[in-house]
Amino acid sequence: MTATLIDGRAVAARVRKEVARDVEALPAPPGLATIIIGDDPASAIYVRNKRRQCVEAGMRDLHRPLPGDISQARAAAVIDELAADPAVTAILVQLPLPPHLDAAALIDRIPPGKDVDGLTAGSAGRLALGRPGLRPCTPAGVLVLLDEIGVELAGAHAVVVGRSDLVGKPMAALLLQRHATVTVCHSRTRDLAATCRLADVLVVAAGVPGIVGVDGVKPGATVIDVGIHRTGTGLRGDVDADQVREVAGALTPVPGGVGPMTIAMLLRNTVTAAALCPSPDTASSRGRP
Ligand code: NAP
Repeated sequence: MTATLIDGRAVAARVRKEVARDVEALPAPPGLATIIIGDDPASAIYVRNKRRQCVEAGMRDLHRPLPGDISQARAAAVIDELAADPAVTAILVQLPLPPHLDAAALIDRIPPGKDVDGLTAGSAGRLALGRPGLRPCTPAGVLVLLDEIGVELAGAHAVVVGRSDLVGKPMAALLLQRHATVTVCHSRTRDLAATCRLADVLVVAAGVPGIVGVDGVKPGATVIDVGIHRTGTGLRGDVDADQVREVAGALTPVPGGVGPMTIAMLLRNTVTAAALCPSPDTASSRGRP
């Protein structure tokens, strides 16, 4: 069997187009505040891409670069100021933060309605309780890809490798909400390959290149590779794609699978946040009453 490759670039392009159309229909363009603290080069690239796509979708880029030696109190004050600003409909704090800062405490200052990364304790709680809210972008994007290829999640056995707050935990919660039977693996899981082999749907987000090989995939399974690793020969994922594509029914490539979906879902969340909380101040910025 040769796996169908799931084209995340094409799906992301469609989501971006839908977002641009939805932005047009809003009374005012959403305003996304991207906060970057310090000069981590990878973070700079991610934030630049997010800002560019935000503008391309017709939204306002309200970027706030902050110095790497900023104090916790000062960073908190900036977030509070953005939280109170009606022109700012969405706030994103690019991670990781410099080690002297308490990232969780800063993120928790973002109001739930502006939390477009879905990472505050409030958003995580809403997800855990199955209440409406903004969901973390990468797992939300995975769900869109699964829906795109028509995977039946109700009753399926989904295995998630990784339990981070950013990917693994929200992924498991989203799959559970869709009535999958969910198993979560992590670094203490005894027999990773045997557990992964149970999966009808396997989502791998361990941050370990090639950790899932052919012995970890049930024939015909849908395999979603969230990992991204820069190597001398280009980007690769957490799945040994050369092996796994011979066994899986469907597979996300790296690059071109989950990666493009993350920013697309950030844009989608930004529109959702703005629609939840339209601001009178930004309404006038398009000259509409
Ligand atoms: P993370 O915070 O480092 O979490 C990794 C998780 O994998 C942890 O829960 C860890 O278990 C588990 N793990 C590590 N080694 C393992 C092993 N040998 N066996 C089983 N589980 C193991 O990473 P993350 O932020 O979730 O990201 C995961 C990967 O996805 C990274 O490669 C990252 O670059 C990528 N990523 C991609 C996107 C995208 O847009 N495509 C977005 C976000 C992240 P413990 O909890 O026990 O330590």
